[in-house]
Amino acid sequence: MPKKKLFIGANWKMNQAPLLWDASDSPYRSNGNPDVVVFPSSLDLHSCIQEKFAVGGQYGRPEAAGAFTGDIAMKELRKVGCTHVLCGHSERRRHHEESDAFVAKQVESALQCGLTPVLCIGENADQREMDETKEVLAEQLLRCVAMKDMIVAYEPVWAIGTGRTPTQKEVDETHKFIRSLLKDKSTRIIYGGSVTGENAAGFFAEEEIDGALVGGASLKLEEFRKIVTAAKR
Ligand code: PEP
Repeated sequence: MPKKKLFIGANWKMNQAPLLWDASDSPYRSNGNPDVVVFPSSLDLHSCIQEKFAVGGQYGRPEAAGAFTGDIAMKELRKVGCTHVLCGHSERRRHHEESDAFVAKQVESALQCGLTPVLCIGENADQREMDETKEVLAEQLLRCVAMKDMIVAYEPVWAIGTGRTPTQKEVDETHKFIRSLLKDKSTRIIYGGSVTGENAAGFFAEEEIDGALVGGASLKLEEFRKIVTAAKR
């Protein structure tokens, strides 16, 4: 089977963009193998777009406009030149109480606006401990299983920013399960949670892992370069 082209997302969260703007070999600039998309803070969206990075929003509100102080509409993200948007990142679910129903509206709205939603799902430590991972993932995916043209990011909450990860095989198995629920079997399913320059190649060797969403390691230029290099096909 031909090797699939991978997707690497750099989630910079509420951190300053780690950019060397004029570096022609910047790992943040996508050459299409792998596809690289950066997710900067809202204030850095515009400058990243001007620098010809492929750019996504970290959050978008489904409504086109209205009285939502501090929020950004999906439609506006598209208008400034974003191509992707994270939906339901666990930090948004936790700090902003985003529900599965709200996240599904975000995914739908992103698709309608011409953005590729990156739907983030994942179990927390207690749920894993109680062997509830599959149930949790199925519930988080339920309203989106029939949607096409999205990316699913499997991000176990206990692995985000902790330096702990599931094994490659565990992730592969979990992705297989996620794929079994999705109508569109060609959906990219990427892994996120403490991906580093050291462990990336191991994850990318697995059949079911179509790339990674990278937080902490994406802020370090050379480490991120290693991840992007490991993802080349
Ligand atoms: C994330 O926040 O999506 C993430 C995967 O973070 P980290 O790589 O730091 O675990």
